[in-house]
Amino acid sequence: MKTGIAASKGYAIGNVFVKEEKEIKIVEQHIEDVEAEVARLNDATSLARTQLEKIKDKAEKEVGADKAAVFESHIMMLDDPEFTGAIENTIRDKQINAEKALTEVLDMFIAIFDSMDDEYMRERVADVKDVGTRILKNLAGIVEDLSEVENNTVIVAHDLTPSDTAQLDKSKVIAFVTNIGGRTSHSAIMARTLEIPAVVGLNDIVQTAKSGDKIIVDGNEGIIILNPDEATIAEYEAKKAQFEKEKEELKKLISVKTVTKAGKKVKVMGNIGKPEDINGVFENGGDGVGLFRTEFLYMDRDSMPTEEEQFQAYKYVAEKAGEREVVVRTLDIGGDKKLPYLPLPEEMNPFLGYRAIRLCLDRTDIFKTQLRAILRGSAFGNLMIMFPMISSLEEFNKSKEILAECMAELKAEGKAYNENISTGIMVEIPAAAVNADELAKHVDFFSIGTNDLIQYTLAADRMNEKISYLYNPMHPAVLKLIKMTIEAAHAQGKWCGMCGEMAGDETAIPTLVKYGLDEFSMSASSILTAKQIIMNN
Ligand code: PEP
Ligand code: MG
Repeated sequence: MKTGIAASKGYAIGNVFVKEEKEIKIVEQHIEDVEAEVARLNDATSLARTQLEKIKDKAEKEVGADKAAVFESHIMMLDDPEFTGAIENTIRDKQINAEKALTEVLDMFIAIFDSMDDEYMRERVADVKDVGTRILKNLAGIVEDLSEVENNTVIVAHDLTPSDTAQLDKSKVIAFVTNIGGRTSHSAIMARTLEIPAVVGLNDIVQTAKSGDKIIVDGNEGIIILNPDEATIAEYEAKKAQFEKEKEELKKLISVKTVTKAGKKVKVMGNIGKPEDINGVFENGGDGVGLFRTEFLYMDRDSMPTEEEQFQAYKYVAEKAGEREVVVRTLDIGGDKKLPYLPLPEEMNPFLGYRAIRLCLDRTDIFKTQLRAILRGSAFGNLMIMFPMISSLEEFNKSKEILAECMAELKAEGKAYNENISTGIMVEIPAAAVNADELAKHVDFFSIGTNDLIQYTLAADRMNEKISYLYNPMHPAVLKLIKMTIEAAHAQGKWCGMCGEMAGDETAIPTLVKYGLDEFSMSASSILTAKQIIMNN
């Protein structure tokens, strides 16, 4: 049994799949039975073919046939006797292992392509490397595509990036556990959005678990048990059944309006990463969306989403929500959220660096594309705009100026948008909380981003399991900042919400109710429990 940090509630009993990070080391080995080695190569190649066929089908459905064509060319490479035939011959001629033979042939192909004048052919080097690496991983038994795992899988990883989690197929992945991370790292937040149990910060689980091991994940207590005996399995099956029963009972609150004991009506909203997540929010009784983390629209792809693509996403959520509010947060990239096609400088302190609004005010091309798309979406429902990581009034004013430019452009183009769209800020930098009385005069609303506010106030990295004991939402300094922010908003007749994970934290909710928080926004899976606690306070 190992104890980590309980990141997402629920119980899972399944089979371990270790997500390997290691580089594959190629060592030359002398082989006696060359035919067996050729058969091993052929198995790895045909597995690669099956994997690529699947990826190609998925890509065709999700991103269109032209983008999927690259996988067709990978499949053709597997069928090319000049490639796979050459590897077979090398195994036979040199009596060496498949891995070594494959790398020799790969190196030869890369050298040939690299020396060509034709740019198109030179670019094929990446494809050759890609196919080669896929076969190598198959030879080593490493399955990397997280969407290709078996049913009933528990992913075990050092960490999962936001784009790894975006790939997870909920019908197969029933839980995940990681070596690093805290309750508010994005992998943990994603687990709660997907409503699958997760335990993070286990230190060495990747080193101790093996693919195929049986595992119990207890996301309530933050415990995992490897290769449990029958009695323990039975015990956890009972806990799981009880948990599901309680979850079912809470469903009676789905359409109940949330009113505190003192008679204050509050909104309980959901946080979403992908447009479709909005369905989970409404299924769990959410009053709307208090945080749409739009950076997820930019992940898991190889280029920036266009204005049109983003417009479709914002229109979708606006239409699904109808009258209900959807707070769209502008791009919050940087920190632990990276984009493969937007190389950012290596920074000593990425969480204090070039990220979120700072990046957007510098890259106004990216910012304007997004603002135009959100504005266009606002013609179809009740969208609001929220700027992340605001530390000063200047940043807010500058953001509003750019928004006004976008409005003027759209007006000139005759495109519809909501001229009175609400604009607010995330209060997640201590400076904004301390200066909330000033900021409140200018914004339409605040939403307190406690995930970052806590880490900046207490100088305690939200991702670092070693200091997670310092990351305390109930620290008096954090509570004072929250109280000040709510009071500052109310003094100017504005509303104040919270979209950090603290809003769904069962132990914090009574205090937040007492402070007069107007809106609580959280992972969909926490909504019903939060409603119940708010109504009892
Ligand atoms: C926060 O910081 O509290 C927040 C909601 O934003 P994110 O978790 O995306 O940084
Ligand atoms: Mg934040």
